[in-house]
Amino acid sequence: MPELPEVETVVRTLAPRLCGSVIASVSTTASRVFRGHQKQIELALPGKRILEVRRHGKNILIELNPGLLRIHLGMTGKLLFDPTNATHARAALHLRNSPARMLVFDDPRHFGRFELIEDASALALGPEPLEISPSEFTQALHARRGPVKSLLLNQAFLRGMGNIYTDEALFQARIHPLTPACDVPARKSLALHEAMRRVLLEAIAQGGSSISDYVDAEGRRGAFQSRHQVYGREGKPCSRCGAAIRRIVVGQRGTHYCERCQPAPRGVRSPEAVAK
Ligand SMILES: [Zn+2]
Repeated sequence: MPELPEVETVVRTLAPRLCGSVIASVSTTASRVFRGHQKQIELALPGKRILEVRRHGKNILIELNPGLLRIHLGMTGKLLFDPTNATHARAALHLRNSPARMLVFDDPRHFGRFELIEDASALALGPEPLEISPSEFTQALHARRGPVKSLLLNQAFLRGMGNIYTDEALFQARIHPLTPACDVPARKSLALHEAMRRVLLEAIAQGGSSISDYVDAEGRRGAFQSRHQVYGREGKPCSRCGAAIRRIVVGQRGTHYCERCQPAPRGVRSPEAVAK
């Protein structure tokens, strides 16, 4: 699933071609993309000018004159300027006054969605991991009891973190993923805040991670997957200590960590490693 760095990369490739253009028409081959908003979207978008494209967590927000279109890429959604790159085109925005003729929404697995919203606050998401201060982060972490891994994935806690970057940040901060959030020592919480920033900013600089078929709006793959230290590396040696990376399931999500660099805290028993 595209996480914060992938969505940020998509937004950065969309903005130069979309801002200032006018939506001439909307077409769709799969009404599920608009989930009950099809008529509303087909009537509202034509004639609207695109003022701004920005990211809000894992959402792409397109500011219109007037209106706000929210696009969530779901598991496999891609926005592509070149329709010949699409294999499962579900919808298209046809554009005027733009260097791009159209923007195609390609989504093999059908989890992506388009929606008109009033305001980003309607999405009720937590703060951006790149904006929250170290002290606010520590305070919020210490107010919760669940496993730190699950908490970081909770979009109402922080918006934009996903499975890859959570595993990578916990590894860098040397925190076991099952540690209750309230038991993360303050110095480790500060290390985790710093690790999240480092991992996210480096991934953005690398154009995100292409572990399945993720590409940006120009059809380019990301390069950060080659920098993963734990995610997707079960059984391989830890880059820091050489121990085998383990994979367990936390809150139904595959979770990768090094047992030696991220030891289980007292009272937390690490489950048996599970097969892929
Ligand atoms: Zn290690």
